[in-house]
Formats: sequence, C-alpha cells, structure tokens
Amino acid sequence: MSKNYRAELVGVFGDPVDENPTGVMEEAAFEALGLPFRYLTIRVRREELPGAIAGLRAFNMRGINLTIPHKIAVIPHLDELTEAAEIIGAVNTVINEGGRLIGENTDGKGMLESFAENGCEVKNKHLVILGAGGAARAIAVEAALAGAGQVTILNRTLKKARELSEMIANRTGVPSEGLPLLPEVRVPEGTDVLVNATSIGLYPDTGSRPDIDYDSITPGMVVTDVVFNDPNTRFLQAAEKRGARTINGLGMLVNQGAVNFKLWTGKDAPKALMERTLRGEFGLD
Ligand code: NDP
Repeated sequence: MSKNYRAELVGVFGDPVDENPTGVMEEAAFEALGLPFRYLTIRVRREELPGAIAGLRAFNMRGINLTIPHKIAVIPHLDELTEAAEIIGAVNTVINEGGRLIGENTDGKGMLESFAENGCEVKNKHLVILGAGGAARAIAVEAALAGAGQVTILNRTLKKARELSEMIANRTGVPSEGLPLLPEVRVPEGTDVLVNATSIGLYPDTGSRPDIDYDSITPGMVVTDVVFNDPNTRFLQAAEKRGARTINGLGMLVNQGAVNFKLWTGKDAPKALMERTLRGEFGLD
C-alpha cells in the first residue's frame, strides 16, 4: 500500500501571535491520536488578512483560529456563520467544509463546557459577568442561548455594558441589564455564577483583581475567571476565601481547544492530555 505524507493544516492567524499557546496543546492531541494534522501559529498583519484567507483556501486548510486583530475583520471573507458567531459578531474558529468557510465562536462554548465539567449548569441561572469585551460577549451569548435565566453585565465603560445587555435581551429574549463596574460594587443578590471576563489579572506580576466588594460573594456562588496563564488568580483566591466554588480559566482554554479539535477532526479531543500540556507550558506543575 502506498504511503500518504500529506498534512491536514489548521492553525491560528493573529498579530501578535508569538505567545499564543493553543498550537502546543492541539499538536500534542493530534500526535496522541495519530492524526496527520499540523497546527501552524502564523503572524498575519491586519492588512494581510485577505491574502491569508485566500492562502487558506488555496492550501485547502481544514480550518483556522483567529485572534487579535482578526476576529471581526474575518467575517466578510467567510461563506457562513453559526448562530452564536453571528450574534456575538466575532469569529475565533473557521471550519473549511468542502471549500465553504464557516465561522464559529468557541470562546463561550469552552467556558460552558468547563462549567459542565465542574457540575455547573447555566440553565435558569443568574449569571453576572464583569467586563463587556470579546470574552464577555461570547460567554454572555452562549449562556443566554443555553437557557440562562438572567444575564447581568458590569463594565467600567457603562455604555458597552448597556449595549451588550440590550443585544442579549433583543437577540435571545433572556432578561439582561448593564451596570457600571464601580469601585467596591456589590455582586447583585441572587447571583448564581460570577465571571471575571475583564483582562484584569492577565499580568500576574501586577497582582491585580477587579475592584468589587468581595464580602458580597457568598458560598452558594460559582465564581470563574477567564485568565488562564496563571489560573489561580487573586480574584479566584478572594472568592474561595468567601466559601464560593471556583473554576479557573485554564478549563475554558482547554475546552475551547477541544471543541475546535472536534470541529476540525470529527474526533473527541484528549482533554486531560491537552490540559497537562498547557500546565507544563505555563510552568504550573
Ligand atoms: P477586550 O479587550 O475585548 O475586553 C477587555 C475588558 O476588560 C473590557 O470589558 C474592559 O473594560 C475590561 N478592563 C480592562 N482593564 C480594566 C481595568 N483596569 N478596570 C476595569 N475594567 C477593565 O479583551 P477580551 O475580552 O478579548 O479578553 C479579556 C480576557 O479574556 C483576557 O485576559 C484574555 O486573555 C481572556 N481570554 C481567555 C480565554 C480562555 O480561553 N480562558 C479566551 C479568550 C479570552 P472597558 O470596556 O471599560 O475598557
């Protein structure tokens, strides 16, 4: 029988992209399952995106991840969007289905899957999200589509919180409110799940955490953070001290990668291996 040396290509387009860790866990997963896939971490400048997408089509790549600054700019180059990507208005994953490029957003799905792994369902729950940027938007929309009872957005820039909450209510029918993220703000009564989706805490050396009244966190709450590179964030440490159950941002990243893996290969991802690989990359073991 003749051998097949052809690689199936996936990867990420972004700028900056050098420190994007996704490729390491995807490649480990491809190797573990003996799949002929390669994940390429490719710097694509803003103005080069059209050429990069043409290249993706020419190479018949199986898909691509998009990161800064391409998540919105890529949309006109695609043939179709999933419902979630269309509502979120941003794409982080493209699937090439026989030449048709389909845009999906797996950020929020990764977070919801991470909740599920930890026995936390969002159906009928009141979610409170700190932040109104890309990650907050993806989590809020997926939670609403999954049947959350209420979604409250707190953001430093109030206008963005209001725009996001109005969009959630209009597009999904889930009640939603936008509030200011003021110093020492209390977490609303009745909150079931509290998410830090701001980028505060991303740089652990600054030791920062959102400026909320941590005494308003109660033991019945599930508290999670999107920050993944040093996942035991000061935000989660403070929530844990109040007796809340915490879920770290590494789970979101691993599960997002696992969703992408399944979309591209059709196979279930070896999640434990992917998490171990990332932990090694971040020097967490
Ligand atoms: P954006 O730039 O789109 O949004 C940043 C958000 O943080 C905004 O709401 C902004 O508020 C808020 N913010 C930033 N600094 C402050 C501050 N000093 N005080 C108050 N609010 C602040 O970023 P993304 O949504 O793309 O990313 C957010 C985080 O999510 C990053 O840490 C990223 O690494 C992480 N992430 C994690 C993923 C995972 O898999 N775990 C996946 C995707 C992202 P304002 O509107 O007022 O500026």
